[in-house]
Amino acid sequence: MNKIDLNGRHAIVTGGAKGIGLAIVTRALASGAKVSVWDIDTARMNAELGKLPGDAHGDSIDVTDPDAINAGLERAIAAFGKVDIIVNNAGVVGTIAKTWEQPVENWERMLKLNLTSAFLCCRALAPHMMDNGYGRIVNIASNAAKMGTPSNSPYAAAKAGVVSLTKTLAKETAKTGVLVNAIAPGGANTELFDVLSDEYREQIENGMALGRLVDPEEVAAITVWAMSEDCSFTTGAVFDISGGRADY
Ligand code: NAD
Repeated sequence: MNKIDLNGRHAIVTGGAKGIGLAIVTRALASGAKVSVWDIDTARMNAELGKLPGDAHGDSIDVTDPDAINAGLERAIAAFGKVDIIVNNAGVVGTIAKTWEQPVENWERMLKLNLTSAFLCCRALAPHMMDNGYGRIVNIASNAAKMGTPSNSPYAAAKAGVVSLTKTLAKETAKTGVLVNAIAPGGANTELFDVLSDEYREQIENGMALGRLVDPEEVAAITVWAMSEDCSFTTGAVFDISGGRADY
């Protein structure tokens, strides 16, 4: 493992109880960060954090609830001091169906869980980071945002919104010390991917030129760089990690 220096930094990772989020938490702790994990799956979060070395603090937070986010931020600061980094990773894949068959409720739920959640966390954290003159915001988008994903338009559109949110906030905070970037993974080996239909999974896997899904640890490796001071002249960027599914 290459060493990324996050010593002295405090990171919040949303959706850190499992999958890609847990891999980011693990790698951030190994890089010296103190980590506050925000997740709705309290039992899983506590079980996983109990196994990890380093300074990690779990908090049961629904990232679609602005009041919960504000209260969580206060508790995170009380636990580990000012927050330097947030990774907006919590996300849900939703109903798999053609656009014209999508329930309206699923469209609204996908926007709320995948896009509004990231907006609310950025809205809460950006002023705190600007006051401190330093921040790294990393939004976990998806390759779905760039390529389109048949049978999952609500998710793909929400993730495209995350890309646009990233680029806009990056320009708004550009001269404040706060850098904002996004990561766009292709299909990853997580529980989120496990629950999809065989047909849908095959569609994603077949699109990966490297011929396999990405491991959560590989997504964490690119994410910790964007969380670090080494990421000093990049903002508003979307980093592809899709095994060649996206070629732009
Ligand atoms: P996962 O289902 O394994 O983990 C998601 C985590 O988010 C869970 O711990 C869950 O409890 C938490 N969560 C869900 N709703 C929440 C809420 N309202 N408040 C707080 N926490 C909440 O998923 P994953 O595969 O690790 O995905 C992580 C991120 O990566 C998501 O944003 C996802 O869209 C994105 N992504 C995943 C893939 C993939 O194929 N797995 C591909 C591209 C992008």
